[in-house]
Amino acid sequence: MTNDVPVKVPFVDLSLQHQPIQQSIEQAIQSVVDRGDFVLGKALAEFEASFAHACGVKYGVGVASGTDAIALGLQACNIGVGDEVILPANTFVATLIGVLNAGALPILVDCDPQTALIDLVAAAKAVTSKTKAILPVHLYGQMVSPPQLLDFADTYNLVIFEDAAQAHLALREGYRAGSIGKAAAFSFYPSKNLGAFGDGGMVITSDESVAQKMRSLRNYGAPRKYYHTELGTNSRLDTIQAAILNVKLPHLDSWNKSRNSAAQLYDTLLEPLRSRGIFPIQNHSTNGHIYHLYVIRVTESCPINRENIQEKLAVQGIQTGIHYPIPCHLQPAFNNLGYQEGDLPHAEALCREILSLPMYPGLSDTEVKMVVTAIESALISH
Ligand SMILES: *Cc1c(COP(=O)(O)O)cnc(C)c1O
Repeated sequence: MTNDVPVKVPFVDLSLQHQPIQQSIEQAIQSVVDRGDFVLGKALAEFEASFAHACGVKYGVGVASGTDAIALGLQACNIGVGDEVILPANTFVATLIGVLNAGALPILVDCDPQTALIDLVAAAKAVTSKTKAILPVHLYGQMVSPPQLLDFADTYNLVIFEDAAQAHLALREGYRAGSIGKAAAFSFYPSKNLGAFGDGGMVITSDESVAQKMRSLRNYGAPRKYYHTELGTNSRLDTIQAAILNVKLPHLDSWNKSRNSAAQLYDTLLEPLRSRGIFPIQNHSTNGHIYHLYVIRVTESCPINRENIQEKLAVQGIQTGIHYPIPCHLQPAFNNLGYQEGDLPHAEALCREILSLPMYPGLSDTEVKMVVTAIESALISH
């Protein structure tokens, strides 16, 4: 319906970050071609070391995707069949798929409606004698409070496995994303804050035995060539992707800062719209929030609904998204887990109310103002 409207503010624009480093990326790709070490090559080892170092942990093990990073990472932490893993219902479905692929039983819990992060009170109620791990998701680029997580895991004697797929170099209360728990999963899907030119992922950890097991699991369960000690798989981060990520990593911090300052401008400009029922997702980590997404809630007290606002922005060439429209526990694929509508009310309400506004490094003040002005006029014209 609005396909022919020229785009004024795109939802994301990756070309802005790639243009200035295009030559270095081409050189990095060429050097992999020259070496011919396409699988488990030199650039992969380099990227694993520098990404782990940037996150403040000892080891990184590159895998084919963020989904595999969760599945294999949990297995490397000896979590699988017979174990329960607590995770939030309002996350990208890959978090849940990762737990299921590890063979564990996912226990989905509700979130805090203000921050959209896992509700640790709800999580506490879900603990049983079979609970082995908590899997917090640092959703939209904001970390779950590290001291609260550590307290929680200590109280119930659980492993913390972080889904940091939206939180590369996020920081909260002195901790980097991925450095709180036993291990953490990252994704380098192209539109993530640190994105490859295709799929990719990584497990990071400071536990040497977890890192060792990961290297075996991603490589057919072989700690050394043609010697197989366990059922592994083929899931490696391509050397070419690692070479590209090596070029991008030094820029990540400034890209994240650019997102954060755009978010602060959104926050300021959107402040008056609280009285009309529009609330940005709360930020409790100030500058450490890396804003993978900038998300607002269009609550019931707003005179028009989320779909109306999205449509009115689209007509003006402003692209938005919904992350995510259906909570994991209500996806048809997972009916067999036995959840029903009404089970996790905050997650369900968020799915009806959330709207992701344009957000990427290089998004200008003028563009942020255009987006907010368009929301204001959608409210007035109503
Ligand atoms: C992107 C993402 C994943 C999965 O990563 P892929 O690389 O797409 O497999 C997992 N969890 C969250 C929260 C994500 O955003």
